Amino acid sequence: MKKDTGKRKMLTLIGKGVSPGMAQGKAFVYKDVLLRDSELYLIDESQINDEKTRIKEAIDDVRKCLTIDAKRIEGKLGKQSAGIFLAQEAILLDPQVVKEIERVLETEMINAEQVVRTVFRMLARRLRDLDNEVLRERGDDIDDLSRRLLLSLAGIHAHSLENLPANTVLVARRLLPSDTVFLSRSSTVGVLAEFAGPAAHAALLARELGIPCVGGVPDLLETVHSGDIVLVDGTTGTAVINPSREALQRHNKAFDEARKRRETMACVNTVERTETVDGIGVSIMANVRSREDVELAMECGADGIGLFRTEPFFLSTKHFPSDKAFATFLRDSLEPARGRHIDVRLLDIGADKNPIYLHLPPEPDPFLGRRGVRVLREYPELLEAQLRAVLEVSQEFGIGVLIPMVTVESDVAHVVSRLHKFAAGMGIRKLPRIGAMIETPAAALSIASLKAYVDFFSIGTNDLTQYTMAAGRENPLVAEYFIDDHPAILRLIELVAKEAGSTPVSVCGELAGRIDMIPKLLRAGIRSLSVAAALVPDVKFAVRTIKIEDSENYSEIAE
Ligand code: PEP
Ligand code: MG
Repeated sequence: MKKDTGKRKMLTLIGKGVSPGMAQGKAFVYKDVLLRDSELYLIDESQINDEKTRIKEAIDDVRKCLTIDAKRIEGKLGKQSAGIFLAQEAILLDPQVVKEIERVLETEMINAEQVVRTVFRMLARRLRDLDNEVLRERGDDIDDLSRRLLLSLAGIHAHSLENLPANTVLVARRLLPSDTVFLSRSSTVGVLAEFAGPAAHAALLARELGIPCVGGVPDLLETVHSGDIVLVDGTTGTAVINPSREALQRHNKAFDEARKRRETMACVNTVERTETVDGIGVSIMANVRSREDVELAMECGADGIGLFRTEPFFLSTKHFPSDKAFATFLRDSLEPARGRHIDVRLLDIGADKNPIYLHLPPEPDPFLGRRGVRVLREYPELLEAQLRAVLEVSQEFGIGVLIPMVTVESDVAHVVSRLHKFAAGMGIRKLPRIGAMIETPAAALSIASLKAYVDFFSIGTNDLTQYTMAAGRENPLVAEYFIDDHPAILRLIELVAKEAGSTPVSVCGELAGRIDMIPKLLRAGIRSLSVAAALVPDVKFAVRTIKIEDSENYSEIAE
């Protein structure tokens, strides 16, 4: 819903609060040009040179950006990953490619954008038709180049999300996991999205990074322009575009007050154990995906890391990373949490997350297809590299290993037997704890048999809701069915806690961070919650106000 405030240019947008907090920044409107049709127009002979110049300038622009990106990635991930950008630059310098561009321009007499689309689509197709897997993979690099050139031709500086300037409010129709890999708290202060349900991956990421986010704002890309000043309030789900001086003052005052409140709360949280009013200890941990997140988690007073999502690491590389590279990443990321409880989840890919080097075949129902442990069973080398890495790292850090998307007993049995095999081969006796993610109704109803294999369970309420309520977490059309506090979900949680007996159970889905739901989770028997780092102080504060034994038992509440 959009409400014009009446003042010139200032506009208040009303959506849904997806990630709490307030921010002020400059809009960057993110459009994936490859997904849009660009204008096609015929040119006459006198325009050929102008279009050639436009393409040449775009190529120069993109080359500059590639050099900058190569340096940045080299610093972050090493020389091998930076090589991709240098190889892309070599394609732009290839005389054959330049010749082909000129040929298409001169024979077809079409505008520069269409020439770029035609030539690069053809190049990508040629590579994808080859038998050689390494060369086939280069098709994505060509698409990426095409995207960069089209952006440059459109006069949009060749931004990718990894290049966002400081104080950016990212404005997007919908962010995909591969886009969000590059979001960083140091540049992105807020996010506005047309589609972003509270359990969408972009929303989770925003929450974990502590970036305020408003979702569900229609026609956003038509309303907001890059460079607009934007105020974001992720708690109330509103945003103000080009605010008046009074609106800005109101925002700054509320922002300062919220910051002071958080600082006071964070101090209390780091020093005291979290107990309910009736003295029941509850451990409050953080969901993270990078060292930056782990640092924030520690600053916010988290008792440990309840869920380390490893997908961004695997999605941010163009080549299958080695066990050594993964172990180095884990060691570096976990360092700030050394000595604490840490649970690392094995790669949960498939469905909407596909690393390009795996070439996972398209499936008719991706979320009901090969995902999580199903992919790991299908690609033994992928599982092996991760298990070797966690075995190595577990000798220094007392970590737990979480198996994602468990459905049947053999999912768990398979990973456990691989873990033992590799440990024996590596001469390792001290094994990491092993845990199963409970994200399907089948797993929730099979705790009695699963617990024979594992040391702990972690309930992922996002997927458990998606599969129990039969409502896709990324699908805004069925958002009203995606009810993560439905009695059916709470019953499953209570059942898991009960059947698990002495096996520890944690809840790490978004439900764990919902202050209004914490009393029900504790009464259902849950004693460990893992939430976005920025929510840790609020969750700890809330737990301290709850009296568990005060209430009727949970089953009565759920009726
Ligand atoms: C979940 O499904 O609740 C969960 C924590 O996993 P993810 O959100 O990463 O799928
Ligand atoms: Mg999940």
